[in-house]
Parts: sequence; C-alpha cells; structure tokens
Amino acid sequence: MFTSVIIPAAGAGERMGTAVSKQFLLLQGKPIIIHTLERFQMCGAVNEIIIAVQPTTRQQVEFLVGEFNLSKAAKIVEGGKRRQDSVSNALSRIDPRTEIVIVHDAVRPFIQQKVILESIEKAKVHSAAVVAVRVKDTVKVGNDEGRFERTLDRSVLWSAQTPQTFTRQLLLDAYEKAGREHVEATDDASLIERLGIRPAIVEGSFDNIKITTPDDLDFANVLVKRFKD
Ligand code: C5P
Repeated sequence: MFTSVIIPAAGAGERMGTAVSKQFLLLQGKPIIIHTLERFQMCGAVNEIIIAVQPTTRQQVEFLVGEFNLSKAAKIVEGGKRRQDSVSNALSRIDPRTEIVIVHDAVRPFIQQKVILESIEKAKVHSAAVVAVRVKDTVKVGNDEGRFERTLDRSVLWSAQTPQTFTRQLLLDAYEKAGREHVEATDDASLIERLGIRPAIVEGSFDNIKITTPDDLDFANVLVKRFKD
C-alpha cells in the first residue's frame, strides 16, 4: 500500500529558548530533523515523506535533504500557525496513490522501525493507530484555585506519542470536520476520535521522546549514544 509520511517541522521551538528552532539543533553533529527523517527514509514500507516547514527554514531543509540523500523527502510545504495547520497543508499534497498516512513529529528522532511497522499494520486493520506509553505517574485534575479535584484511574491512562497512522480518507475527513467546526487539537488522533473512531493502541517506548526543552536535549544526547535500530 502506498504510504506517505507527514513530518510537521514548522514549530518555533520557543520552549527550548534557543535562536535556532529545536528541530535544527545537533545530536552527534547531525540536526535532530535529519535523525528523524532517516528513520522513515530507511523504512521499506514508506513511499514518500512530506515536510512542513516555516518559510524561513525552507532553503536549509532543502539543502539538508540533498546533503543526506533523503530521496523520499521530495515535497517540502509551508507550515501553518498551529501544528494542525502544518499537517493540514502537508495533507493537501499527498500522492494520489496514498492509502496510509503516518504523521510523526520532527522532534522525535528515537522512533524504532518495529514500532513504525506495527503502527502501519494496525492502521490497515483498524483505520487508525496511535503509538503510546502507559502513564507512570498518578494523574490528577487540578483547578484554578490551586487544588486537586480528583485523581484519574491510572490503569486506563496512556501518553500519546507519534507516529499516528491513518487510512487516507479517514484523516482527510477528520481534518475537514475539524476545519468546519473550528476545533483545535494537540494531536491528530483526537480529530479522528471526534468521528467516533477508536484508534488502536501501539505500545511504544519511553525513549521516543519529543525534544521540547533543554532538559530533553540533554537526555537526547544520552539516548543517541545507546540508540540502535
Ligand atoms: O509544538 P509541539 O511540541 O507540539 O511540536 C510538535 C511538532 O509539530 C514539532 O515537530 C514542530 O516542529 C511541529 N509544529 C509544526 N507547526 C506548528 C507547530 C509545531 O509543524 N505551527
């Protein structure tokens, strides 16, 4: 099945506090986004990669894609104000043959091949699949007065990561509905859930971190030394 990967990479990285957006920071001398793209370039099940970028970083991304021979990453599109807008712009450029769409954050370089493949297989069967890990901490609901209201049942809680993988028409329908109803979401699966679909769970790894803050970058520098796939 023709499979397209969307890499939203148009975030400003304000929480990192650096002048360079977080996806361009170096891990073992290589930009984070390149580590991420290489995971999908080497995946035999992937046919094309579409990257959403800020206009100011387009040239840099085009150069890096060439330098690292990322032949599948032939389409670079403009990102939007919100992550959701970036994914939507990329979605409008997927190949007409696409049947499966994977969305994966540019800043999650430690994704394993077996997890990518399992998420594709589960999306084929269930239309939607989300990589996630079980929540380790006890999660409580706080209020505006600085007090906890209640405690959630940890046995049913998961932290959603990416990749999140969908059949093409389902993702298009979800984005169309979200646009029409002005819904904002922090991940793609929640837009799918609004269609009444229950995405399949793909149990992932705690190493698949989203590099967001300086602490994450320190941890990523430890992980990169032991990451083998
Ligand atoms: O900001 P957040 O941590 O949710 O970013 C997750 C991913 O979404 C990052 O790879 C970031 O570059 C991307 N993003 C985007 N367009 C935005 C905001 C975030 O492509 N407007």
